[in-house]
Amino acid sequence: MTELLFRDDGYLRSCNARVIRADERGIRLDHTVFYPMGGGQPGDTGMLGLSSGRSIAIVDTVKGPSPDEVIHVPAAGSSLPEPGAELVAEIDWERRHRLMRMHTCLHLLCSIVPGAVTGGQVSDGRGRLDFDIPGSSLDKEAITSRLNALIAEGHPVGPRWITDEELAAQPELVRTMSVKPPSGAGRVRVMEIAGVDLQPCGGTHVRNTAEIGPVEITKIENKGRQNRRINLAFAV
Ligand SMILES: [Zn+2]
Repeated sequence: MTELLFRDDGYLRSCNARVIRADERGIRLDHTVFYPMGGGQPGDTGMLGLSSGRSIAIVDTVKGPSPDEVIHVPAAGSSLPEPGAELVAEIDWERRHRLMRMHTCLHLLCSIVPGAVTGGQVSDGRGRLDFDIPGSSLDKEAITSRLNALIAEGHPVGPRWITDEELAAQPELVRTMSVKPPSGAGRVRVMEIAGVDLQPCGGTHVRNTAEIGPVEITKIENKGRQNRRINLAFAV
């Protein structure tokens, strides 16, 4: 069982950890700051620094078959550490921070555009959300200026846990039909952007919308009769 430190603090860049297992699929640790790919957010990259001085480049992080199992994928040809080995796990913070900014921005976009979210993807410097909107034409300039206003207003962003029962009583909180919230453990993690958005999410986010910085809508595409894809990028 791995302790997922990024869940409570998305700003942790490194942690001490011990190797639980290392095999052809990757490396499992007892603690980690590496976010595994999920909910439209890519897995972290970074480095595992062994006490011998050797370091192993991590090129991706994915979920394993069991709940909360995180697999650190080493660069091809890396020699694997022994179980029990102690190391320092450190993410590529610059990249992660860009992913956190874009991920948080997609929550804001979700609060502006009506219609169910049918898909989404965060990439480095870019992001997109698909909305189920029959026949409507979306105003690119209006959405961009509303989005940048919400960013500049500096709304606090933070996680909160609610019970499965509270969530079941408020199904409107689940805007993303393709990504089911992590539930079944009796409680669900929701992300709250004070006064703007509240929804279940297991990803990593910035603490304040001002940290996102200016963004622009690069393209709105028709993907099927009811599906509109809104593509975003950082403006600077
Ligand atoms: Zn999120």
